[in-house]
Amino acid sequence: MALPQYAVLFFVFLHAVLRYPFYQSSLKLQIARKASSPTDKALMYGVLICTVILPVIWACTSLFAFADYRVSKEGMWLGLSLRLVAAFLFYRSHKDLGNNWSDKLELRTSHSLVCNGVYKYMRHPMYASMLLALAAQCLYLTNYLIAPLAFLSYFILYLYRTPQEEKMMEQQFGGQYLVYKQKTDALIPRW
Ligand code: SAH
Repeated sequence: MALPQYAVLFFVFLHAVLRYPFYQSSLKLQIARKASSPTDKALMYGVLICTVILPVIWACTSLFAFADYRVSKEGMWLGLSLRLVAAFLFYRSHKDLGNNWSDKLELRTSHSLVCNGVYKYMRHPMYASMLLALAAQCLYLTNYLIAPLAFLSYFILYLYRTPQEEKMMEQQFGGQYLVYKQKTDALIPRW
């Protein structure tokens, strides 16, 4: 195994470690409203397969070696650096959402609208962190099948989920959310 393979395993592990405490505390909180559809759930399983299981298989076996490509050392380091930035944004957005975080579309009984921290600059920093992570991954997970598939699977989930999430937030927070929406873009930071 070489650096890219170790990097893939490391970042899969890091994401799990960063998310675990938030997942644990989310289990103790009451849910006021669930909005996840069967399609959303199916897409989440697809994302799990494409962003975790297939990359781990690539890192640990030579099953997909026939579709490997080459990237220069500089390109690889750029990918790893961007991946670290993405991991930081992933952590920050969990921290700023706090008890409002959920891996599904749902609202807690004590849900509040977060407009501070990284949420001051964009509406979907967590999704942005994942898209950045999976784009950066293309520079070190050098496989024509697995790298684009990981990005694409998440992008499809993002496109499907975001309008529903925003609708749910609008129904819950009304004008407060509309004002927030006017002040921010979905993924691109606005200062
Ligand atoms: N889309 C956001 C949050 C992802 S977590 C991001 O990319 O950063 C998904 C959950 O977060 C949703 O179920 C919703 O209940 C909650 N959520 C999304 N935006 C929020 C906000 N600004 N304040 C509070 N909760 C929010």
